Amino acid sequence: MKLVFATHNEHKLKEVQQLLPKSIQLLSLKDIDCFEEIPETGTTLEENAKIKADFVTKTYGLDCFSDDTGLLVDALDGKPGVYSARYAGEQKSAKDNMAKLLSELQQAPKRSARFKTVIHLNLHGESHTFEGTVEGMITEKKYGDNGFGYDPIFQPEGFDQTFGELPSDIKNSISHRGRAVQKLVTFLKNVAP
Ligand code: IMP
Repeated sequence: MKLVFATHNEHKLKEVQQLLPKSIQLLSLKDIDCFEEIPETGTTLEENAKIKADFVTKTYGLDCFSDDTGLLVDALDGKPGVYSARYAGEQKSAKDNMAKLLSELQQAPKRSARFKTVIHLNLHGESHTFEGTVEGMITEKKYGDNGFGYDPIFQPEGFDQTFGELPSDIKNSISHRGRAVQKLVTFLKNVAP
């Protein structure tokens, strides 16, 4: 089965590819010659995931899934949330985003947070959503340089290392996206074993 993953992020594509069975041939936006930046104009993760998957399905007539992720920090009432990528500005710099978050949490009484991923799948004319979360806390400084985004300052519950320090296979097995993708994979295995 051929399925488009509506992303330009090669890192994420690799992460998800590792989790999918070989019977499912994953195509990136590059593979279908889609070089546009699909506007993420929604105000929720659910809306943005749907916008991206619908764009590909309507424009190219292909089955597609897309994901949208946010980091929800309790002391900041769930921010940066849907604005995680551009928290410190449109340059979408992970370094600037982490610096802003660490500075905002300097006086915070608690540092609990969670990553949440929503996947929207368009398949055979129907749509389905899958969710994954991982609980954790924001560390006081950066540790490690594995992964991307906020990984060096997010320590998942039950571990004393950040996602920036943990190997990618461990991150994938417990991460928000890993969990959402596992739900997607279970669903797809039933549809196309
Ligand atoms: P996206 O919806 O997957 O593009 O994620 C939006 C933003 O959330 C990214 O630009 C990152 O800043 C952050 N993010 C998403 N997934 C992760 C992750 O696995 N680790 C760290 N940061 C992430």
